[in-house]
Amino acid sequence: MPKGQYKPPQSGEAPEGLKEILASTYISCREKNPGEIKSRKRKCAKIAWGAAKKKYRKCKCGKWVLIKQMKAKKRRKMHCPDCGEWV
Ligand SMILES: [Zn+2]
Repeated sequence: MPKGQYKPPQSGEAPEGLKEILASTYISCREKNPGEIKSRKRKCAKIAWGAAKKKYRKCKCGKWVLIKQMKAKKRRKMHCPDCGEWV
């Protein structure tokens, strides 16, 4: 597969910012771990999701919430701007 042709993991309705982190992390990992090898793909998907989840949290309603939007920074939880649920 030519460089830059790696397809990042599926993220459904995730926001653009999350998709960008997912894609850039996944692609740079795949460039270091090339080839159509399942374990490499899985490893890179895991790393990419790990990077994305440092910035985003998924609410029960399905919405991804940017951690920077946290109102109470000292708390580990925050309100989802969509449904008001603690995330
Ligand atoms: Zn929500």
